[in-house]
Amino acid sequence: MAYVFDPIETPTVTVAGTDRRFPVRRIFCIGRNYAEHAREMGGDPDREPPFFFTKPADAVVESGAEIRFPKITKDLHHEVELVVAIGKKGENILASAAKKHIFGYAVGIDLTRRDLQKFAKEKGRPWDSGKAFDQSAPCSVITPASELADIESAKIWLTVNDEIRQSATIADLVWSIEEVIAALSEAFILMPGDLIYTGTPAGVGPLSPGDHITGHVDGLAPIDVTLTP
Ligand code: MN
Repeated sequence: MAYVFDPIETPTVTVAGTDRRFPVRRIFCIGRNYAEHAREMGGDPDREPPFFFTKPADAVVESGAEIRFPKITKDLHHEVELVVAIGKKGENILASAAKKHIFGYAVGIDLTRRDLQKFAKEKGRPWDSGKAFDQSAPCSVITPASELADIESAKIWLTVNDEIRQSATIADLVWSIEEVIAALSEAFILMPGDLIYTGTPAGVGPLSPGDHITGHVDGLAPIDVTLTP
């Protein structure tokens, strides 16, 4: 078969400590999964059922990259998130069995054109312009779950130009990692290669051209990106 142009190369993320790569199939993101962040966005911090949105797989950006400052926004925001990498197919997964579907974990930044997201919310329109743009999903190398003792009590934080902007612990998640996988797998057949951005803690805020951003979770390699001046 001949293509009329070269097909996209499968987007990938490096697996920590190896020369092997994790092929990315889809990127799912969960909204409002830390109570303090739900409040700062004007939401109800109680356990509303989790909701999801997506980004294209080729929105992933590896650590060390320079990201072109996104188009048509005057309010680009950082959202640091624990990323769960799925390694095993499943649907209607029980929370008690969810861990078996996890290949590993990474640190991600859900870059958000907040002004466009806000406009979409007000108009009842899709979030794609606010969330699913080019280079909107920086992701660190993936650490295999087998090499991690305890992710649930890990600290998560983000710096902009060496100043801490977001800080919390994974234990603050409204919906746990297992519950997120269970809920997502009711709506979608989860497949190896899927990445799940599990939500951001409070402290989201604006970024400027030239900013240097790092995202951290204890026990994982950090994500480190710079916006073009
Ligand atoms: Mn987010």
